[in-house]
Amino acid sequence: MQHAAQRWDAIVVGGGPAGSSAARRLASGGARTLLLEKQRHPRYKPCGGGLPLHALTEIDTPIDDLFEGQVDTLEISHPSGRRFRKSHGGPFASLVMRDRLDARLLDAARDAGAQVHEGEPLRRLSATGAPGRAIAETALGRYEAPLLIGADGATGPTARAAGLDDAVPRSAAWELEIEAPPAALDHWAGVANIDVAYRPWGYGWVFPKQGRLSVGIVLPPGHGRRIRALTDAYAARLGLRGAPVHIARGHPVRYRRGTRRPVARGPLLLAGDAAGLADEFTAEGIHYALRSGRLAAEAALDGLGRDGATADAAARYLAAVNREIQPELDAARAISRMYYWCVSTWAALALRVSEWVDYLWRAFFRVMRGESTYARELSRAGLGLTRRLL
Ligand SMILES: Cc1cc2nc3c(=O)[nH]c(=O)nc-3n(C[C@H](O)[C@H](O)[C@H](O)COP(=O)(O)OP(=O)(O)OC[C@H]3O[C@@H](n4cnc5c(N)ncnc54)[C@H](O)[C@@H]3O)c2cc1C
Repeated sequence: MQHAAQRWDAIVVGGGPAGSSAARRLASGGARTLLLEKQRHPRYKPCGGGLPLHALTEIDTPIDDLFEGQVDTLEISHPSGRRFRKSHGGPFASLVMRDRLDARLLDAARDAGAQVHEGEPLRRLSATGAPGRAIAETALGRYEAPLLIGADGATGPTARAAGLDDAVPRSAAWELEIEAPPAALDHWAGVANIDVAYRPWGYGWVFPKQGRLSVGIVLPPGHGRRIRALTDAYAARLGLRGAPVHIARGHPVRYRRGTRRPVARGPLLLAGDAAGLADEFTAEGIHYALRSGRLAAEAALDGLGRDGATADAAARYLAAVNREIQPELDAARAISRMYYWCVSTWAALALRVSEWVDYLWRAFFRVMRGESTYARELSRAGLGLTRRLL
C-alpha cells in the first residue's frame, strides 16, 4: 500500500549553491519548503572554488571567514614557456573550499526555515495534472508540492525526469587538490594561473588555497578522455610532480546555449548545473547557480496562492533566466570561442597581442568584479580593440 504523500508548498532537490539559494528564498518568503540532499554536508564537490567578486552579490550570509585566499593577479601561460601576468591592483576573486561554502549556504537555508533532509536522495519524480503537482519519492518518504526545483547538479536525476536534459552539451573538468611545497605556495600567493593550450578550447588553472593549490583542466564536450593525462602533465610543468595529491576528481559541467532550451516544465523548475547554467569562457557556475536558485524561488513565490497552487511559475522563471542569465552565458561562449581559438591556432601571435592589449584584461577584471558584464564588454570590444590597434 502506498503511503499518503507529505504536502509542502515547495520541494527543492539538491543542497548545492542553487538549491540552498532557492530554499532560503522560498522559506524567507513564507513557503513551507523541503530540501532533499543526497549527501551529508560538509561534502566534497569537484570545483576550483574560484568565487569572482560578482558572485558575492548573491550571498547574503557572512562567508569571509571561509576565504582561503584572494587573487588580484592573473597569469596566462602556454606550454611553450611563454607567460605573462596582469594585475588588477585589488582582488577580483576569492577562493573557497566547496565543502565549507556549501555547508554554510545550506545552514542559511535551514535558518530561514527550510526543512533540510540530508542523506536522502530523490529516487523517483513524477509530475501530475493541472495546475500541476510534483511528487518526489525517496527511500524514506513521499512528498508532494505544487512546485519542485531541481537543483541536483550536472548529473542529478531531475533534468532527466523532466525530459529537459537532451542535447545540453557537457564538458569534462578534472581537479587535483595538491599539498604544494612552500615555495610553490609563495609563487602563487594572490595569483591565479590560466594555461591556454587546449584544442579546440579549454584551459588549465591554478588557484591558491591555504597550504594547497587547486590545479585542474576543463575541456569541451567530447574531449574528456585525455583530461587526466593532460592534468598530470600540466601539474608536472608547474613543478608539482611528486607533491602529495589529496583529491583527484572529475565532474561534468553542462552548458545551456541560447534562449530556446526549456529550463522548466509544469511544476518542475531546473536551477544551476541541472539547467546547464555555467559559462563557457571560465566554466564558472557558482554565481549562476545562486542566481538561478533565487530566480526560481521568486517565480514560485510570485504565484503561490492561498490554496497552495503555483500558477505560471515555469513561464515566469524561463523569462527571468533568459533576461538575467542567458545573455551572459551566450556572450561568454562567444568570447571563449574567439579567445581560445586564437591562442590555440596562432599561439605566439595571440599571446603577444593579448599581453599587449591591456584593454582585454581590464574588461575581464571589470566583469569578475561585477562592474560590467560579458555582454556589455563584448559589444564594446569591437570598438575598443579597433581604437587600440589604430
Ligand atoms: C572541476 C570543476 C571545477 C569548477 N570550478 C569552478 C570555479 O572555480 N568557480 C565556479 O564558479 N564554478 C566552478 N565549477 C562549476 C561549479 O562547480 C558548478 O557550476 C556549481 O557547483 C553548480 O552548483 P549547483 O548547486 O547547481 O550544483 P552542485 O554544486 O553540483 O550541487 C548539487 C547537489 O545536488 C545533490 N544531489 C545530486 N543528486 C541528488 C539526488 N538524487 N537527490 C538529492 N540531492 C542530489 C548533490 O549531492 C549536490 O549536493 C567547476 C566545476 C567543476 C566540475
